[in-house]
Order: sequence, then structure tokens, then C-alpha cells
Amino acid sequence: MKLFNTMTRKKEEFVPLEEGKVRMYVCGPTVYNLIHIGNARPMIVFDTVRRYFEYKGYDVNFVSNFTDVDDKIIKKAIEEGVSADEISKRYIAECKKDMEGMNIEPATKNPLATEEICGMVEMIQQLIDKGYAYEKNGTVYFRTRQFKEYGKLSHKNLDDLRSGNRTLLVSGEDEKEDPLDFVLWKPKKEGEPAWESPWSDGRPGWHIECSVMSKKYLGEQIDIHAGGEDLVFPHHENEIAQSEAANGKPFAKYWMHNAFLNIDNHKMSKSLGNFRTVREISEQYDLQVLRFFMLSAHYRSPLNFSADLMEASRNGLERIVNAAENLKYLSGNAKTADMSREETEALAKTEEYVKAFEAAMDDDFNTADAIASVFDLVKYCNTTAGEDSSAAYAKGLLEVLERLCNVLGLIVVKETEMLDEDIEALIEERQAARKAKNFARADEIRDELAARGIILEDTREGVKWKRA
Ligand SMILES: [Zn+2]
Repeated sequence: MKLFNTMTRKKEEFVPLEEGKVRMYVCGPTVYNLIHIGNARPMIVFDTVRRYFEYKGYDVNFVSNFTDVDDKIIKKAIEEGVSADEISKRYIAECKKDMEGMNIEPATKNPLATEEICGMVEMIQQLIDKGYAYEKNGTVYFRTRQFKEYGKLSHKNLDDLRSGNRTLLVSGEDEKEDPLDFVLWKPKKEGEPAWESPWSDGRPGWHIECSVMSKKYLGEQIDIHAGGEDLVFPHHENEIAQSEAANGKPFAKYWMHNAFLNIDNHKMSKSLGNFRTVREISEQYDLQVLRFFMLSAHYRSPLNFSADLMEASRNGLERIVNAAENLKYLSGNAKTADMSREETEALAKTEEYVKAFEAAMDDDFNTADAIASVFDLVKYCNTTAGEDSSAAYAKGLLEVLERLCNVLGLIVVKETEMLDEDIEALIEERQAARKAKNFARADEIRDELAARGIILEDTREGVKWKRA
């Protein structure tokens, strides 16, 4: 399995730090508003990366933070006349709703910056003690030039940075030793949320959050650190400097970044008026369509969002869903139960599509090619399964199709609520089985119903049932 490492600018074979395990950190959103579709891309991409690792049998510890203290949150709180805490809590809840709609698996842990301040104060102190940071008038800065490998992720040279960033010299932070130094801790201004520290009552800089949360929940060294490509510099570069200076060890083994998202061939921006939230999209489309759209391109290719492409995605997804529904219908209405010898052979042939799918995913998570092999499988299902197929064959095909779609996070068969008459038919069958002393079958039916949320009660008047 190969993935592209931003650090080495090469596709590398994935070798985990610990066998069978993946420790993965993805920078999460700053929560001051509904998330936009640019935020959705890394969520969908890295959720798919995680799902594929899980499919391959890895145990994935997936940590993604919420930045819940920030200038933008404070600004919004002042505008609305509420606390910053109220703003961040509200938008974390809204973000989780959107993530559920996009079928993003909940993270192993979603740490909040405001709950991890202690660890940040500790790491900042460590950096000061080691000579990597200094305090001036209550502000703590990272001494960038002290970290000799600064620039190794973004492939930037310190001297170029300095000449290219003359504005840094006049940014009002003239108390810094060097314009390249960045903030680890800043004192509060009137009315801002603040925490105690040895340097001032204030709050942490953005970069230190991720270094600390990643260390706390995943350890000093992790397998994969990921995010949007706009985070490479300065955010991830600064995270590396902080973590490696403090811990004295390489931070992440692989750095993964998704490319940006344009809207109608323009950069998304509030001033252009082409800003789209996930919530707005959800009013027009099932968010599964948005997910399908995001995965239809390779994650390192820029992606253009347009009405036409969303329509094409809707149609594409529908083709897969129709095939799955057809298989489900066939398996429920087949004339024969068991597979013929020809069918057994035909089902074995689906392995070809599975292999093509895996080859695409093994090649730096090429979801575009993976989707192409799902379409090939759909075509195979549509041409080889029909009214004469056995239930087992239709079910076998559906299982393969669902397994692959599940890696992509696409739900192709929705669990429908059981009809009353179907429930009653099963209860009757269970009674008959009991009478015939076939208790195994009777238990099986009870379990099946329980799995669908139907609870049975044996009463003197007979069996009663209710929905859980
Ligand atoms: Zn981060």
C-alpha cells in the first residue's frame, strides 16, 4: 500500500510504527460558523483513508480536533452578544450533524482546544526550558531559527521566507527576535476568554494546539498527520518545529494533504459570493451525493464544484444504488435458494473487481479509479443477475458491492422499516418452529427481529411485539 508523503514528495510504502495499528491525526475545523464544502473535502477524504485501513484489518486510532478558541469565534460571539463558548458549542453540534449526513465515521477522539490548555502550557514551558521559545511582555514566541530543520515539510528556505515576507517585519510584533518567530501564547485583550499561565492570562496560539492534542491522544510519534494543503505552511511546518523540538523525535511518519476545491472554476471566497455551506448543499441533495462527488477525483487533484458535476454525481450514485436495490429485490423474490455451479463460478469472478478496487486504493487512495471498478462490478451484477438467479447468488453479489461501497462510505442499501405484516409472518413462523421443536430456528427468528428493532413478548394471550 503506497501513499504520497508531502515531506518526501514521493509515494512511499506504508509501514506502520506498530504492526496492525494506524495512529492518525487530522486537523479539524475552527468552529464559528456552519462548515463549508471546502471543509468537507478533508473530512470525506481522510474518513475514506481511515475506512480503507480498517478494511485492510488495521486498528485505526483516529483523532481530529475542534479549534474552539480563536479570533473568529470571539468576533462572532461579540457580534451576537453571547459567550465564545456558546458559539463553539453550537457549531460543533452543527458540524457533527453535517458529518453524519456525509457518513463520516465518528473519530476515536475529538479533543477540544479549550480542554487541553494545561498540556499546552506544559509544552510551551518545555520549549522555553530547551531554548526554543522566549517570552516578551506576556507573549511567548517560538524561536524559529533554533529549529534547524524548519521548512522541511513545505520545502521552504528560511532566507527566502524572510525576504518574501517583509510584511512580517512591520506587523506590529516588532518585539520578536526574528520576524519568522511565531506565537505560542498571547495575553488576553479585554473581554476575551483567558486562562492562567506563568507568562500572562491569555490563550494559546493555534499551532501549539495540534502538537499537544496529537501527543496526548496518539503519543509522541504518529503514523499519519493530515489536512488540507493550505495547512502545509505555516500550520504543519510549525507543528513539526514545536513537536520535534519538545519531544526530540520525528513527529509524523507520513504527511498527507488534499488539494483545494474551486467553485465554478473560482476560488471559494465570501467576497465572491460563491461560498457554499454543506447545509445549503443538503437542502438540494442527499449528502451522499456530495461524498460521491468528492471521491470522484483523486484527493491530490484540485476539484471543481459545479451544478453539472453534482448532477453527474447524483446520476452515478443512483446507478450503484439501483443495482443494489435490484439485487436486494432479487434475493427476496428468487425462485431458488441455493446457488447453481455456474452461479458459484460467476460469483467467484467478482474477485477481479475487488482486486482492481484494492489496486486503485493501494495506489495512494485513488478513489476515482476505485469508483470505476465499482461501476464495472455494477455492470457485471446487472448483466449476470436476473429473475432466474438464486437468492444466494443475488445476495452474494450484493455483499461484494456493499463491502466496496462501505470503504467509500457510500450507503447503497438503506435499511427500510419492517412492515407489520412481515413481522407477523415471522412471528407465525417462529411459533410453528417451536411447535416442531425446532428451537434453533425459533431463536434465529427472535434474533433477526431484535436486530431490526422488534421486541417480542410472550404473554398468556400469545406473542406480542413492539418496536424498540
Ligand atoms: Zn492542526
